[in-house]
Amino acid sequence: MQTNECPKCQSELRWSREGYHCDFCQVDFKKVAYCPDCNKEMEKLNACGAPSYFCHDCNELKSKSRAKTEFVEVEQS
Ligand SMILES: [Zn+2]
Ligand SMILES: [Zn+2]
Repeated sequence: MQTNECPKCQSELRWSREGYHCDFCQVDFKKVAYCPDCNKEMEKLNACGAPSYFCHDCNELKSKSRAKTEFVEVEQS
């Protein structure tokens, strides 16, 4: 079972409508997947209920298991 830890304070992130939120840091995070081959940010696709990722640089689908995911702080506008 994967835990979603805040990169700042290591407490568990809460899932909200827009993404992940840390109640302690008062910061929103989004989960970003990076291509295992070229390290560019990938686009998340929901095909057949199973999420997969598409790399625009490699121009191909990458499996979720190979994707490197990271929580990135969302800029507040
Ligand atoms: Zn935090
Ligand atoms: Zn790529």
